[in-house]
Amino acid sequence: MRVTLLGTGTALPTGDRFQSGALVGSDDRSRRVLVDCGGGVLQRLPQADVDVESIDAALVTHTHLDHVADLPSIVKARVLAGTPEFEVVGPPGIDETLDDLLAVDDVRGRADLTVREIEAGRVEVAGFDVTAFEADHSVPTLGYRFPGDGVRADSDGETDSGDDVGSARGGVTFSGDTTPSETVVAAADGSTVLVHDCAYPDGTDGDGHTTPSGLAGVLAGRNIERVYLTHLYPDTRGKEGAMTAAVESRFDGEVTIASDLETFEV
Ligand SMILES: [Zn+2]
Ligand SMILES: [Zn+2]
Repeated sequence: MRVTLLGTGTALPTGDRFQSGALVGSDDRSRRVLVDCGGGVLQRLPQADVDVESIDAALVTHTHLDHVADLPSIVKARVLAGTPEFEVVGPPGIDETLDDLLAVDDVRGRADLTVREIEAGRVEVAGFDVTAFEADHSVPTLGYRFPGDGVRADSDGETDSGDDVGSARGGVTFSGDTTPSETVVAAADGSTVLVHDCAYPDGTDGDGHTTPSGLAGVLAGRNIERVYLTHLYPDTRGKEGAMTAAVESRFDGEVTIASDLETFEV
């Protein structure tokens, strides 16, 4: 899989971080899923050299605006491009949210939309065998794990493949917005990459999100090769080194501050 981080920011603008979004593509580039679709994600697609027509589905973590704001723009762009089929998958409430978002235009009647509301557990999205798990946020939120080839992650986060579960085959996990959560890191355990909320620097009130020290506390002892810190509010600027150091103090893997348009293979 190829993963491109399209938006690593939040509801507050920074000038260089768009709102939440990532793209997961199959190795042959024939299947692509957006994980969240906040403001700016539509514009990031051509910057990542990806046609909006090539996206199969959007997998939404929760209905906060900084994760769904560009959904209607994606749907409208697909209609105008002659590819009106699109699937939106997310926690309960996503269908009503989409209705509200699309009410500002006549695009819902012209789009060929499929909307699926899901709970934690295994779910297939555009041919990806995804595991959804509950994050801990102010509204119902799901995180998602895309297992690596041959590795299947159960809903309790345990990996089970029948052959060796090397970290290079562990896939990618998105935490969604969350406070530090054992459920989330258990679901991510064995992943090659974890993309995790780290919205605020230490010394601030986490308020539904995660701080570096909070993340370090739950990541200790987990088998994850690399962690990207994302969902970065403006007051994380200038504190990147202290943030990664705080997480690395209790976690053996690599810790990186995420950037928009960063791409990696898992
Ligand atoms: Zn949120
Ligand atoms: Zn958010």
